Amino acid sequence: KKRIVIKVGTAVLTQNNELALERLSNLVDLISKLKNEKKYELILVSSGAVGAGNTKLQLDKTQIANRQALAAIGQPLLMKHYKKRFHDYDINCAQMLLIENDFDSRKRTKNAQKVMEILLSNNVIPIINENDVIANDELLFGDNDQLAAHVAYYFNADLLVILSDIDGYYDKNPREYEDAKMQKIVTNIEESQLQMVHTPNSEFATGGIVTKLKAANFLINRNIPMFMSSGFDLTNAYDFLLNDNHISGTLFK
Ligand code: ADP
Repeated sequence: KKRIVIKVGTAVLTQNNELALERLSNLVDLISKLKNEKKYELILVSSGAVGAGNTKLQLDKTQIANRQALAAIGQPLLMKHYKKRFHDYDINCAQMLLIENDFDSRKRTKNAQKVMEILLSNNVIPIINENDVIANDELLFGDNDQLAAHVAYYFNADLLVILSDIDGYYDKNPREYEDAKMQKIVTNIEESQLQMVHTPNSEFATGGIVTKLKAANFLINRNIPMFMSSGFDLTNAYDFLLNDNHISGTLFK
């Protein structure tokens, strides 16, 4: 059975201090169709807990403890909406909160793998997020792109799909350069690209493309492809995943 990890970012799930429920709903449709029509096994890595919490309580998000408090408020709220929408398809979903060192030791990883196999073999959709409520910076990946890459590798997935606020990976930041070109297939990520992103003021510094390149690099080295396309408009994701037709979006392999 083909196993796919889908990661969706905060920008897709929230808008103007509200949960973007229509987009969440469209995402659940896509996942349910892949499960029912393609018989794939699906794992969702979902951001958006802090954003969801912020719709209920406004705190200064520059403070880490405040962000953790917002995540504590937002995570069950997010899950409530996923549960409700998956219920329309008679699909159960489950919450798994992980931190970086869940992948550190063989024993811990094995435990998580066991739980994962039980969930998937019982047709449940695991919904994973980083457990930012209890954990401090050292325990966290800090971004769900790299968490999702680890999830894909350690839970033996065949593909990672990153649904972002941009429709693919470009040769330069498309928000800065009008002539930026989408890269449909990327087979090699230069060390310099991964380095460049660490330099403040680089074109990558503000956007989250860096962590996506790191995730892609991690997976390319382990022979797992990664597909990146828009989470706003799922047309390309449908084409690629449901119709096996790569029309647009970036495939790292
Ligand atoms: P998400 O919330 O989905 O993880 P991010 O905002 O973290 O999304 O990352 C995507 C953003 O990265 C894009 O919206 C864009 O502004 C920025 N970006 C910078 N360089 C590039 C590039 N070369 N290709 C695509 N996006 C880029």
